[in-house]
Amino acid sequence: MHELGIIVQISKTLEDVAQENHLEKIGSVTLEIGEVSGIVSDYFDDCWKFYCKKTPLLEGAKLHVIAISAITHCTHCQKDYETVRYGKICPHCQSDQTYLIQGNEINIKEIEAYGASC
Ligand SMILES: [Zn+2]
Repeated sequence: MHELGIIVQISKTLEDVAQENHLEKIGSVTLEIGEVSGIVSDYFDDCWKFYCKKTPLLEGAKLHVIAISAITHCTHCQKDYETVRYGKICPHCQSDQTYLIQGNEINIKEIEAYGASC
């Protein structure tokens, strides 16, 4: 249950933020999820709903997900390419001297307090 573990972590962060800002309820959360972070979005959604029901702070909170595409950089020819399409081998020079620049992250981008009117 990779997804649920991540949601538990995220909710801990949200609880900290809520406490700092004296929020009693969170209305919506926007997450940035990388393409190769291993998150299956449909399943993630189900886990989120399940978890929110059990957490008063997050009850009824909406989840918005922004996908971040994965990009790999080649140190051999200094070009970037789409990770999902080509994997670890650079499509420009066939080198395997490559590393992931982005696409593996999960960030909390925005938190909206319940009933906030802005
Ligand atoms: Zn290359």
